[in-house]
Amino acid sequence: MLIPDTRSSIGLSLKAESFTESVIREMTRLNLALHGPERAINFAQGFPDFDPDGRLLDAATRALRGGYNQYATTWGAPQLRNAIARKQTAAWGRAVDPEREVTVSCGATEAMIAAMLAAVDPGDEVIIFEPFYENYGPDCVISGAVPRYVPLRPPDWSFDPDELRAAFTDKTRAIVINTPHNPTGKVYSQSELELISRQCVEHDAIAITDEIYEHLVYRGLHISIATLPGMAERTITISGASKTYSVTGWRIGWLIAPPALTAGIRKVHDFLTVGAAHPLQIAVAEALDLPASFYVELLGDYQERRDAIVDGLRDCGFEVSAPDGAYYVMAGIDSLGASDDVSFARRLVEEAAVATVPASSFYHDPALGRRHIRFSFPKKIETIERGLVALRALRP
Ligand code: GLN
Repeated sequence: MLIPDTRSSIGLSLKAESFTESVIREMTRLNLALHGPERAINFAQGFPDFDPDGRLLDAATRALRGGYNQYATTWGAPQLRNAIARKQTAAWGRAVDPEREVTVSCGATEAMIAAMLAAVDPGDEVIIFEPFYENYGPDCVISGAVPRYVPLRPPDWSFDPDELRAAFTDKTRAIVINTPHNPTGKVYSQSELELISRQCVEHDAIAITDEIYEHLVYRGLHISIATLPGMAERTITISGASKTYSVTGWRIGWLIAPPALTAGIRKVHDFLTVGAAHPLQIAVAEALDLPASFYVELLGDYQERRDAIVDGLRDCGFEVSAPDGAYYVMAGIDSLGASDDVSFARRLVEEAAVATVPASSFYHDPALGRRHIRFSFPKKIETIERGLVALRALRP
């Protein structure tokens, strides 16, 4: 992503000129505009087409009626910070302090830009694995970070340890990790995370890790890099309610970081947004105390969706490896005789009312993404089946 030298005639800032609108949301809109909500099938934007658990809806209703309608503490209602700290203390086996280490944000999206603005100065290098969730590009532009990319390669989306080592320089300030990974479904292994953490310690860099899909792991184990030796003091862990509790529209995310980083994050967050919706914070605090059976059921449902879409896409002729985590599939389009992800994705919208995301949106150089499109599958089984029927009808 290059910042242009001169302003456009409209006079937008050079930063705003340097990135485009989100392709994920653009594909969603285009499909709706062409086919309307009844026909359009949205495999583009990763959000559920089903309701959250009734217990969350009841908790939100109670909070709205219960007097939580003014600002919460800017860095998060105490009930929610306490619940996050309890959950993470149990998961990590070390005490997380809700007073000094937890900040509630408007979704993981705000969490990521708040983390970058708090920790990164213009000109600092930030390492990003590629393909990457499209927000990380504009996040670098906005914070002035200089991105350095480390490729993840299909079919297993592994990276070359030498390429990782070479990406660290004396200007490296941070590395962005996203596990389970959007868009590939990769779940970083213990040895990959150990390699990354050794580099962070050696180069005195921090890890900013987006773990929003932490509960959606079909194969392998979710490991937080914050739990590895030397990392607790240099890691900002981001997660949130959107994906786990199917409430992407609530915009409740959070960051866990050592006190010094948290102090900076809280200042940036305060001036970006003041705070996330108070009654919804109270409802999410209740959700975090749901029993283990909730997560077992969640994973079982997603496994079923994953299997349905993976089998169906294979049947349609796409090249697909089943994702180990998150709720996306990268589908290779070579085998269908297509060579351009953008025109192929447009054709699927126009002829099948199926929205996907061309993989070039997840690369700094669009040429690298030409051979894949991304399907997201947090959808009812009926929706997945309907989408597959439309895709099969398209076969030459
Ligand atoms: N994370 C989701 C995706 O990748 C939603 C993106 C968004 O619209 N904020 O599709």
